[in-house]
Amino acid sequence: MHYHSTRGAGPATLDEALVNGIAGDGGLYLPEALPTFSVADFTGADTIPQVASTLLAPFFDGSSLRPDLDAILGETFHFPIPVTSLPATQGSASLLELFHGPTAAFKDVGAGFLAACLTRLEGDEASPLTILVATSGDTGGAVAAAFNDRPGMRVVVLFPDGRVSDRQAHQLTCWGDNVLSLRVRGAFDDCQALVKGAMADADLDTRFRFSSANSINIGRLLPQSTYYAQASLRHFADTGNKPGFVVPTGNLGNALACVMAREMGLPIGPIVLATNANRTISDYFETLQWLPKPSLQTLASAMDVGDPSNMERLRSLVGDAEILRERLGVLSVSDEQIRAAIRKDYDEFGFATCPHTATATHTWRKFSADLRSNHDWILVATAHPAKFETIVEPLIDDTVALPAELAEMLSRPSRCVEIAADPGALADAMSEYFAL
Ligand SMILES: *Cc1c(COP(=O)(O)O)cnc(C)c1O
Repeated sequence: MHYHSTRGAGPATLDEALVNGIAGDGGLYLPEALPTFSVADFTGADTIPQVASTLLAPFFDGSSLRPDLDAILGETFHFPIPVTSLPATQGSASLLELFHGPTAAFKDVGAGFLAACLTRLEGDEASPLTILVATSGDTGGAVAAAFNDRPGMRVVVLFPDGRVSDRQAHQLTCWGDNVLSLRVRGAFDDCQALVKGAMADADLDTRFRFSSANSINIGRLLPQSTYYAQASLRHFADTGNKPGFVVPTGNLGNALACVMAREMGLPIGPIVLATNANRTISDYFETLQWLPKPSLQTLASAMDVGDPSNMERLRSLVGDAEILRERLGVLSVSDEQIRAAIRKDYDEFGFATCPHTATATHTWRKFSADLRSNHDWILVATAHPAKFETIVEPLIDDTVALPAELAEMLSRPSRCVEIAADPGALADAMSEYFAL
């Protein structure tokens, strides 16, 4: 399988796409053609790794990683991804729980898969690869956890001082010796500028061999389509119905993976995107004008994206707004509606949802009675509510129990180095820490 850029450059191999992250012309990598499957192709495949082994095999055709695919999947899916049914007054609804990984959010899947691939492609104990990541919260933790203690790999995480919650800060700073956590005296944009500057510095790049693991890497997208595939196959086998999905959406990676699974022939019904108050996607579907905006801060902070970069992939794969809005639904959910949904979820389901997941439960409740009854719905739960306890607990007037994976992480010692938002300070901190 070859990969080309959304802006025309190509072709590249999977190995090149994984290592480069972004195409030479600034576009995003997509496979030249999506493979297609029928339900019968998955006969006998039950677990996510089993389904994924069939689904992802064509994408690894010609890759040096092909013989390792099953081992990579085994490393990625070392935690469960259950679908639990919800008490619904109309139709059937269930929750796809993507939050049982090491950092209790769905980004653990993509980060784990990419780490397993990059370690095999580039891990070199004599001259390690250094993953640089600027984070405002979830991404940095998932990347640090995924690359933690992997031989031949180092991680440098930069996060803005005082702008992440205590639990988020802990999950950015509690890893092994190959992870350097930097608390930057500045904002997220300063962290991002430092990362860009360091990567463009030829001398630093030679010493550290920089790479990135950001969410546009094809290696984060591919494994995400596998849980949609497995959940839909199981639901279809059990009921004969193709389930619809409601996906909390920010940069559009998780939702795009769902669209790809449906394009490949998996038994998936309607797909509805739930965004927060950042309306770039919903405005596009309404006005047919693609107008990226600065991002707004909301309660569902991991979805605060005003210029979702995966839209470029979605348009290249499916088409522009006229076509997209026929194939996908979208609803923008306000902070007030998120708060109300968290309370309702707690009352109706008996457990709390995180602010991101609440955009999906709100969206589902807003469906017409027909839409609710004519399809079985799977609502995607992207993070555990205990990660956002300062928002959730006052709303439900109760505490959220820590899941084992988060409790384990929070019990580890935490350490980080504080630096000024200055390129020299970053270079010094890395040189000192890694003794280079
Ligand atoms: C990243 C994230 C999202 C948004 O996912 P995209 O792939 O960027 O659309 C939603 N919820 C949580 C908890 C996240 O961390």
